[in-house]
Amino acid sequence: MSERGTLLTDAGIDEPLVARLMAAARAAAAHAYAPYSHFPVGAAVLTASGDIVSGVNIENASSGLTVCGERVAIFTAAAMGHRELRAVAVSAPRAAGTTPCGACRQVINEFKPGSGELVVLIDHGDRILPHAFSDLLPHAFGPRDLERAAPLT
Ligand SMILES: [Zn+2]
Repeated sequence: MSERGTLLTDAGIDEPLVARLMAAARAAAAHAYAPYSHFPVGAAVLTASGDIVSGVNIENASSGLTVCGERVAIFTAAAMGHRELRAVAVSAPRAAGTTPCGACRQVINEFKPGSGELVVLIDHGDRILPHAFSDLLPHAFGPRDLERAAPLT
């Protein structure tokens, strides 16, 4: 089996689901609020329960308040009660191959599965490339580091 097939199979995601996730991310991108950068991004997350939740980048005249599409999707899913994600799809129509920024990678890490790989699907226009999340943020700091902290004395 190809590396792509192995990654998707291990994550329990088949090709039709890959297509559905990216379709949701691409559709969301049309609603991005990006009047300053003109760089729309759509994202869609697949929750452990199989729901698909989308988000878009939302900019602000005060630039530092801008939030990426990935985080909007993840925070929306979290607000709906979801605590574990299986996949994140990202579509930046003006720049094929765009991957999540560092901040979003850290937020994705917070909601990755307790075991097994989370798949990040990147829109390359004519194809969808899956990446293992552990390749995008190796040796990540996360909730498990806090859990294993030595007890206070
Ligand atoms: Zn980001």
